[in-house]
Amino acid sequence: MELEFTPEEDAFRSEVRAFIAANLPAATRQRLAEGRPTTKQDVMTWTRILHDKGWSTPRWPVQYGGPGWTPVRQHIFLDELLSFPAPELLSFGVSMVGPVIYTFGNAAQKARFLPRIARLDDWWCQGFSEPGAGSDLASLTTRAVRQGEHYIVNGQKTWTTYAQRADWIFCLVRTDPAAKKQEGISFLLIDMTTPGITVRPIDTFDGGQEICEVFFDNVKVPAENLVGQENRGWDYAKFLLGNERTGIARIGTARSRLIRARAIAMRSQRDGSRLIDNARFAGRLIEAEVALKALEITQLRVLSADAARGSTGKPNPASSVLKIRGSELQQRSTELLLEALGPDALAYGNDTPADLPEGADAIAPLYFNTRKVTIYGGSSEIQKNIIAKAILGL
Ligand SMILES: Cc1cc2nc3c(=O)[nH]c(=O)nc-3n(C[C@H](O)[C@H](O)[C@H](O)COP(=O)(O)OP(=O)(O)OC[C@H]3O[C@@H](n4cnc5c(N)ncnc54)[C@H](O)[C@@H]3O)c2cc1C
Repeated sequence: MELEFTPEEDAFRSEVRAFIAANLPAATRQRLAEGRPTTKQDVMTWTRILHDKGWSTPRWPVQYGGPGWTPVRQHIFLDELLSFPAPELLSFGVSMVGPVIYTFGNAAQKARFLPRIARLDDWWCQGFSEPGAGSDLASLTTRAVRQGEHYIVNGQKTWTTYAQRADWIFCLVRTDPAAKKQEGISFLLIDMTTPGITVRPIDTFDGGQEICEVFFDNVKVPAENLVGQENRGWDYAKFLLGNERTGIARIGTARSRLIRARAIAMRSQRDGSRLIDNARFAGRLIEAEVALKALEITQLRVLSADAARGSTGKPNPASSVLKIRGSELQQRSTELLLEALGPDALAYGNDTPADLPEGADAIAPLYFNTRKVTIYGGSSEIQKNIIAKAILGL
């Protein structure tokens, strides 16, 4: 088992880091460093910079424009983006619908959509979850009925991240209500400007509107937008969800937040001494740093085992361990940030007094926003079920 990076991999990491430092726009960099959400324009500009370098589709096969990186290089690239931090590539396009299209789509779909995903000419969103179908996704009821050369779609999706920004949505729809749940589902690509679609953003606890409800009222979708075969959508969704879990530990995100928490604790005073000299706070910070190091080594073990085994086309169940630990550490790192700032973290939105540490007003919203990470991409309870079945054999 190889747990060290090779000199070539270390050189690649330096190259990625230097490229980000030289090319990431300053305003985007500052927003992210302070823990604020990126704008649509931040992500588009950055994706095009990466696209020009040939780095906007890190996991795609070379024939579709990927850079031909090994899984370790893909990991290093993502880790550097998250640690810097720089905006991530829009996962709904690059990691989700893109691979579905190049694996199961037809030639016309590949030619039409893949180059636009790579340049972020189209912002994609994911229409899977519904009010009655989340963990039990196969219970979805959004209906698509074939009429000639079109499908007529009716129903509702929910928790759709950035639907208000999206040009396209990929949807799971029920095409055969009489079949067994998993066997009557199809995978449709829907233009968000089609009449009959209503997007309603949801106000969240952090003060943002990152997620939406999407309603479909007799939406007419060309049949050519069906991916693969009718009623085989569940297979494509499983493939997509497997990809969604790759890189899900997001070690770089937790790392950059812990570094920031430590820096704040070195500066801030509590009861006449520096917070970092408070044994309880320092102990908790160090515990999180050690847990992060352990997770990093676990991730390398998984990567190394995957590389040795070759691609099986199925997600490694160990990614569930990475998801649980990674999301818990993202949450713990924002808790420590919040604690390090103390009362300064109560500043919210426009309240920021001038003498607060830079970006303090962004921390409470970030803390609230980070509650989501143990829910999306398969909740922690669902990951534990996977571990019980697939790893422990219970
Ligand atoms: C911020 C955010 C963004 C999201 N973005 C998208 C998006 O862009 N597109 C999209 O399609 N979806 C999106 N989702 C939806 C997400 O995938 C679902 O929230 C998730 O799958 C859980 O489903 P649910 O919310 O219906 O909860 P439920 O499935 O109703 O679960 C409720 C609780 O019960 C637990 N539970 C459920 N089943 C079991 C079980 N079998 N065993 C043990 N415990 C169980 C869950 O862990 C959870 O704690 C997003 C969610 C969030 C929070």
